[in-house]
Amino acid sequence: MLLKPKIALLIFPIIIVQVMVLIAPSFMLYQAKFGAQMEAHISDSIAQAEHSLDRQLRALTADSLFFSENQLVNQYLRITDKNTRLNVLQDALQKQFSAFMDVHPEYVEISLLMADGSEEVAVLKEDVNNQRANEQQVLYFKTISQSSANIEITPLIDPDSRQWVLVAARKIFNQELTAQRLSPTKTVQAYLIIKINFDFLDYLFKYNSLLDNGFIMIHDARGVAIKVQGDQQVASSFLANSFAVITEQKSVQVRDWSADKGAYIIGQKKLFKGLFYTAGWPQSELQLLLRSIGLSSLLSALPVIIFSTLVLFWLLNRLFIKPILQLTLSARKMGKQRGAWTFQATSRDELSDLAETIKEMGQGLIKQKQKVHEIAYIDSLTKLPNRRQFTDDLQYHYGQTQSELPDIALLFIDLDGFKQVNDSCGHGVGDHLLVIVAERLKNVLRASDRINYTAGTAREHKIARLGGDEFTILLQGIKDRQSVEQIAERILRTLNSTMTIAGKEFVVGASIGIAIAAEYGDSAVDLLKNADTAMYEAKARGKNTYSFFNKSAAQKSIERMEIKEALRRAINNDELQLAYQPQICTKTGKMVGCEALVRWRQPEKGWIAPSVFIAIAEESGLIVPLGRQILHKACQQIKQWQEMGYATVPVWVNVSCVQLGQENMQQVIMDCLAKTALSPESLAIEVTESSIMQGTDSIVQLEKIQAAGVRIALDDFGTGYSSLSALRGLPIDELKIDKSFISGLHNSEDGKAIVSAIIAMAHQLNLQVVAEGVETAQELAFVKQKQADIIQGYYFSKALPAEEFAKKLACAVAKRA
Ligand code: C2E
Ligand code: MG
Ligand code: MG
Repeated sequence: MLLKPKIALLIFPIIIVQVMVLIAPSFMLYQAKFGAQMEAHISDSIAQAEHSLDRQLRALTADSLFFSENQLVNQYLRITDKNTRLNVLQDALQKQFSAFMDVHPEYVEISLLMADGSEEVAVLKEDVNNQRANEQQVLYFKTISQSSANIEITPLIDPDSRQWVLVAARKIFNQELTAQRLSPTKTVQAYLIIKINFDFLDYLFKYNSLLDNGFIMIHDARGVAIKVQGDQQVASSFLANSFAVITEQKSVQVRDWSADKGAYIIGQKKLFKGLFYTAGWPQSELQLLLRSIGLSSLLSALPVIIFSTLVLFWLLNRLFIKPILQLTLSARKMGKQRGAWTFQATSRDELSDLAETIKEMGQGLIKQKQKVHEIAYIDSLTKLPNRRQFTDDLQYHYGQTQSELPDIALLFIDLDGFKQVNDSCGHGVGDHLLVIVAERLKNVLRASDRINYTAGTAREHKIARLGGDEFTILLQGIKDRQSVEQIAERILRTLNSTMTIAGKEFVVGASIGIAIAAEYGDSAVDLLKNADTAMYEAKARGKNTYSFFNKSAAQKSIERMEIKEALRRAINNDELQLAYQPQICTKTGKMVGCEALVRWRQPEKGWIAPSVFIAIAEESGLIVPLGRQILHKACQQIKQWQEMGYATVPVWVNVSCVQLGQENMQQVIMDCLAKTALSPESLAIEVTESSIMQGTDSIVQLEKIQAAGVRIALDDFGTGYSSLSALRGLPIDELKIDKSFISGLHNSEDGKAIVSAIIAMAHQLNLQVVAEGVETAQELAFVKQKQADIIQGYYFSKALPAEEFAKKLACAVAKRA
């Protein structure tokens, strides 16, 4: 959930709780007050009823006294004869009674009973029938006749009207005796009876607010209702179920009572003799009242709640939420826009401190991220993209076009002889060289504007260093091979120019494999593999050149892999043999030496040329064990020939530049000679220009080898880059002119000139010259004429197996100069 709704959700209940806490005590106060008020109200109503009754009783007492002392009543009673009384005064008396009753509607009956209970004068309400003439047996007569009091007021059900009445029975004493005060005891002459109904309470009952939902009633001590107002059902249920608990105490009793309809507050009081007053008020009314008070309080508080919520929310939003949102936005922007920080603190507080901290953290993180990116994607040495970045870029191009292949070309560049530089001159020099190469590659691409690219293509070429001495260049917008060729040639030219590192001069060659996506590069993986394969092809073609990928090259690459594995097995199984090619002195025509050349007959593939497998052995490092094997075999062979009594000639063994780079060749050679007990003159070695170009370490090794008495020839001279002058001072005894210069020599004036110059210059440097690959008499004649010292070639003999060569040894052998 977002911050805004969260805070809104939080503020609202908090404010409600606060308002509730404020309202609750007054609500409770109200509850207690209303409870008490209700009880007071019940007590008031009881007091009013009591008061009304009391007033009525007093009126009744006064009225009965009034009638008992009434002149007409006394006259009536003074007449002793009943008939006379009745005839003379009954009517008058009845009229007087009637007149009184007319103004007192609550009066049900006024009657005069004689002492024996006989009713002589009786005025009843119109709707009431007088049931009997003698009241001797009725309750009030019995009560008054047995009472010592002058008046008795009794509530009862009137036998005549069958309704509850208050009967006031007053004794009327014998008048004469009383007047003369002759007798201490008064005799009751008659009883004045006044009956009133309970209508005098109507007014009270009618306007009593208790009756809205409750009830009030007058009842007798047995629970018989006399007068009921309000909820009759609850009132009678109360009388039926809860009446027994009524007490006779005088004070008002208030208690709770649970009816079916709900809880009631009950107030009770005994009013008079057997008269009780009970009032019941439903507590639900109190609750209703409280609820409406609560509701109105809430309603009046609601605007306050809403207003304060809005104000609080506005404040929180302004002071916290808005700055936090801005902070979040700024932090996000910083992540996306690499460091752009937009948050502006309006005041100096904890939030601005937090913003400052986030800013610092973010900037630190961005720096870290850049560093991590650099570590992950940038080559630390050359600062070029590394393999991972290159692979991503390559994949990106393939991901861009779904339907067709991207118009890209990949150049896979592998430096020639870098390993030797690294091994012989140390990693520092090697690293420096790589940095220079990277710089030169960049320059080549910078200057590649004139190349023919696809129109409208962004020419964002990418150079990467995959590792070691392997570089790649991803060219975009490539139209044809020609464009790439131009770049490849420019790369070779640039790399071939001399570079000086730590005071030494180096010339670096490179083999470049080129794969064009539109030709065979169905996928990024394919394109890289193809460029790699093409690079091997370039290496196989003599290095320092470029080669486009084609299917046959791929096939060759597979074959090379197979050859490598087969060669590994062959070395382990000692399957390789040596052949020996005689070297003939031009002056004497005698054999003065022989070159040991390795021969391999692979069980499945048959004879494999050294030019094929030696290159593979050099690439894979197998040349090291193979070279040792060859050296050992050659030494053993020489020893064998010597032991067989042949006049032996020195055997020239080819030593690869890789061997010189990786091994202490001087030690290896000396060990071999020692093992076979040969003198150093029996053995000689041939090295190529690349061994010398490798640097000082190789030259130092060669010097030691030469110093030990083993002669050294520079093989294949002319195919490398070293000039004759560069040979000055090098540990070399012989120079072997490469057979490519000799072949067809007699037909080429240039060839003749070159060979003549090499021979002359070599002699100037005191080097013996061997002409390799002499096949014809013309070639022989020419090199002889130019005074080459030694001839090696098919013209005399191919390389021969040891047994065959031994036969040659038996013939012409001459000592070298
Ligand atoms: P290389 O050291 O220059 O050896 C001379 C090559 O020229 C040999 O080829 C040899 O048979 C060939 N050859 C000699 N006379 C003639 C000729 O009149 N006409 C023609 N067309 N060729 C002639 P091979 O034996 O095939 O060796 C090729 C290369 O392989 C060697 O060139 C050498 O660089 C390498 N190699 C051969 N054996 C060994 C070895 O034992 N160790 C090392 N490291 N490399 C070897
Ligand atoms: Mg050789
Ligand atoms: Mg050679």
